[in-house]
Amino acid sequence: MQLIIWLIVLVLIFLGLAYYFTIWFKPQIFGYFPDSIKTDKKVIALTFDDGPNPPDTENLLRILDKHQVRATFFMPAKNLERFPDLARKIIAAGHIVGNHSYAHKFFNHFKTLTFEKEISRAQAVIQQITGKTPALYRSPWLFKQPWLLTNLRKHKLTPVSGFFSSNWEVWHASAELIFQDAMRVVAPGRIIIFHDGFDTKGGRREGSVGAIDLLIPELKKQGYEFLTADEILGVPAYQNL
Ligand SMILES: [Zn+2]
Repeated sequence: MQLIIWLIVLVLIFLGLAYYFTIWFKPQIFGYFPDSIKTDKKVIALTFDDGPNPPDTENLLRILDKHQVRATFFMPAKNLERFPDLARKIIAAGHIVGNHSYAHKFFNHFKTLTFEKEISRAQAVIQQITGKTPALYRSPWLFKQPWLLTNLRKHKLTPVSGFFSSNWEVWHASAELIFQDAMRVVAPGRIIIFHDGFDTKGGRREGSVGAIDLLIPELKKQGYEFLTADEILGVPAYQNL
């Protein structure tokens, strides 16, 4: 009996450590996985995951255009296949598009082979639809398995992590709440994560989009300048093939 309890405790410790080292975004034992740069300058990068997702992505584009801010979109390639025109619209508006896997499926990230397919298939689809080959990659759930960096090197991709804007974003919180939370997360040199979509399932994101309309004017008032993820990290956004 006692042995079973010890086994359960060991398994829980193992799962806890695995979660900590592969999902939690602070430790970088598997290598470079930047969520910010060290700077005193008031620069920040807004990033949006899981689009394109109409009508929220279109509304977001209008808001970014109104405030003249460029951002970075990490989109699962499966969503680009569904909304290719919207994906091209994002690039035409001057925003950057990065690789965020093909299917955004959790279990595809546990095996080297399926994981590599997720990356290469996404690269091919994004290239085909937009004419651009991304040089930036963000893992779904910021997942950092040990073979991540080797695979990214092979595809000439730079990993991009970030700070989640609000823990409540996933529960479709109000614009006001996401805005208030994001204001606490903002600091010079940080990359901030918002969502304009929901995996590859879609779903409403009015709260996140509304929060951006509140956030940008407030940060501009404080003297912040908005950069894209490649600009803040000083790396290329796309590959010249
Ligand atoms: Zn995602």
